[in-house]
Amino acid sequence: MADSSKKEELKPSLSPVQFMDTTLRDGHQSHLATRLKLEDMLPIAEKIDQAGYAFIEMWGGATFDSAIRYLNEDPWERLRELKKVMPNTPFQMLLRGQNLVGYRHYADDVVERFIDRAVSNGMNVFRIFDALNDLRNLKTSFRATMKYGGKVQGAFCYTVSRFHNNDLFVGLAKRLEDMGSDSICVKDMAGLLSPYDAFDLISKLKEAISVPIHLHTHDTSAMAVATYVKAIEAGVDAIDTAISSMASGTSQPPVETLARILEGGARDPEFDMSLLTEIADYFKEVRKKYHEFESDYTGVDPRVLTYQIPGGMTSNLARQLAEQQALHRMQDVLDEVPKVREDFGFPPLVTPASQIVGTQATLNVLTGERYKVITSETSNYLKGLYGKPAGPINEAVQKKAIGDDAPITGRPADLLNPELEGAEKELSKALGKKIENIEDVLTYALFPKVALEFFNQKDQPLVKKSEKAPQVEEVQAPLIAPSEFNVKVHGETFEVKVGGVGHPGEGGRPYFIYVDGQLEEVMVESLLEVMPAAEGRIESHAGGRSIRPKVADDGDVTTPMPGAVVDIRVKLGEKVKAGAVVLIIEAMKMQSEVHTAIDGVVQAIHVAEGDRVNPDEVLVEVRPEV
Ligand code: MN
Repeated sequence: MADSSKKEELKPSLSPVQFMDTTLRDGHQSHLATRLKLEDMLPIAEKIDQAGYAFIEMWGGATFDSAIRYLNEDPWERLRELKKVMPNTPFQMLLRGQNLVGYRHYADDVVERFIDRAVSNGMNVFRIFDALNDLRNLKTSFRATMKYGGKVQGAFCYTVSRFHNNDLFVGLAKRLEDMGSDSICVKDMAGLLSPYDAFDLISKLKEAISVPIHLHTHDTSAMAVATYVKAIEAGVDAIDTAISSMASGTSQPPVETLARILEGGARDPEFDMSLLTEIADYFKEVRKKYHEFESDYTGVDPRVLTYQIPGGMTSNLARQLAEQQALHRMQDVLDEVPKVREDFGFPPLVTPASQIVGTQATLNVLTGERYKVITSETSNYLKGLYGKPAGPINEAVQKKAIGDDAPITGRPADLLNPELEGAEKELSKALGKKIENIEDVLTYALFPKVALEFFNQKDQPLVKKSEKAPQVEEVQAPLIAPSEFNVKVHGETFEVKVGGVGHPGEGGRPYFIYVDGQLEEVMVESLLEVMPAAEGRIESHAGGRSIRPKVADDGDVTTPMPGAVVDIRVKLGEKVKAGAVVLIIEAMKMQSEVHTAIDGVVQAIHVAEGDRVNPDEVLVEVRPEV
C-alpha cells in the first residue's frame, strides 16, 4: 500500500546514534575558558580515537584565538599533532562562516585559503554557521570546503524570539541542504532547546531533509539529556557529548549517560565503556590543573531559559564587569541584554553577535545612558556589515549609530578586497624576514595584533628572556621597570602587565595591574623619590604611558572604561568640533569611539597607540579657541 510504504520511509532510522566528542573543543571552551593545552590532550588522544566516537571536535570556535593569545601554542601544529595520534576518527571543527575562527568578516581569499590549509592539515568535517543565520555568509566557506575535499555540515543557530519558529528553521535547513550540505546541524549554543520542542523540530527536519541531522546543545539548564533522548526518538542521527569529567553545566551532557541510556537498544552506539572510564579519570585529574579558569557561571543554571544568554557569554560578562570593577551591575546588564538584542533584530546570541550585544549592553548600563557610547562593532552591525537578522532593526538606534548613511543590503564580504597578499607583506615587514609559511600568514590575517605578539614570543621563548637577565645590557635597562613581565611564585607562572598608574595619595600610588588578564588595583609605596624622568613624560606628545593628569575640564577627553588605545584620530593643534572622534579605545575585545565634548583645539595628547588607559585619566586635552 502506498500509505504504509510512505510511513516506512518516514520511520526514524534505526542505525546507531553517532556521537561526537566535544571535550577537546567545546568541553574546555565551556568549562576552562578554552585553556586546555596540547600537552594535556596528547596523552589521552589515542584512547579517545579508539572509544567509539563517530567524530571528534578538536578545533575551531575559540580554540584558535586562545592558543595564540594565551597558550603560546600554534593552532596549526595542534591540528597536525593530534591527527598523528588520532588517525581513525574523523576530525570536526566549528567554523563561523565568513568570520572563520575570528570576530569579523574576512575577505574571500582568506576564507578559501584557511579552509584549504585546514583540510591539508587533517580537518575532515566543517560545521559552518553564521551568527545571524544569514546564509549569504556561508557561500564562500561551503564552496571552499567542497573544493578542497572537506565535508560540509551546514548549521543554523537555534534561538527563541517572536521571529523564530520551526517553519523558519526547517526553511533554513532546506536551503542549507540545497547549498550542498553533507549533513545539517541544529546548533543550540545556549542550551535553550527543551525536550518536547526538540522532538517537534527534529521530527519536522527528518520529514523535510534527506541528509543526516546532528544536534548540538548545552546542559546549562540540565535538560540536555532529556532533549537528546527526545531528539533520538524523533530520529536524530548524531549528538554532541563530552566526557563526564568535562561535561554538564555549560558544557555538553556526558557521553557515558547517553551511552548507557541507549545500551542494548536498536540505536546502541556500542562504546568501549572501560575506555570511556579511563578517559574520564584522566580529565578529572587534568581539570584540576586548570582550576583558575573555572568560573562561578559554568554550573547548572536554569535561568538561562529566562535570559537566553549562553553560559559562555554570562561568564564573559562577569569577567568584563569585574575588569570595570562593576560586578555589582551584573543584574542590570542581564536585564539590558534582551533589550539590545531586540533593538538589533533578535540575533542569536552566538559569537560574534553575543560579544557585540553583550558589550553594548554593558556600556549602556555603565555609562548610565543607552547608546551614549557605541562600539565600532555595533555601528558595523547596524550598518549591515554582519548580515541580516531575522527581526527588524530599531531605526532610532540605527540612526544614532550610523547617522544618515544607508545600511548595506548585499553580502557583506562583497565589500572586502583580498587581504592575504597585504597580510603577508605586513607580517614579513613586522618580523623583518620573508614569511613563506602560509599558515603563519593566515594566523596573522585573522588576528594581526595577537599573532605578532605570538610570533615574537615564539622566536624568543620566555626561558631565554630570563637567562638574559643578568647581562649588563639588561642591568642598564631604563629606570622604569618593564611594563610586562612574568612572575614565578611557588612554581606557578603569572603573566603581569602594568595597565596604568593613578595619582599618588594616602597609602601610596595605585597601580592597575593585569595578572593573567585579571585587573587588580595595587597600592605601591615607593621608596624612591618620584622619578623626574617619568613625571617629565606627561608633557610629551606620545610618551605619557605612566602618568596622566586628573580630569578637571570639560575639554578633557577620557575613556568610558579601562582599555587600550588603538588609534589616535587627532593631531596636536588640530581644530575639532564637539562630537568629533578623538580616539579609538579597545576594551572587552570591542573597539569604541571616544569623542570630544566641546569645540576647540587639541592642546595636549597624553597617550600613544597601545597605551592602557583608565577612566580617571585625561587622554587628550581640547581647549576652546582663543
Ligand atoms: Mn557549543
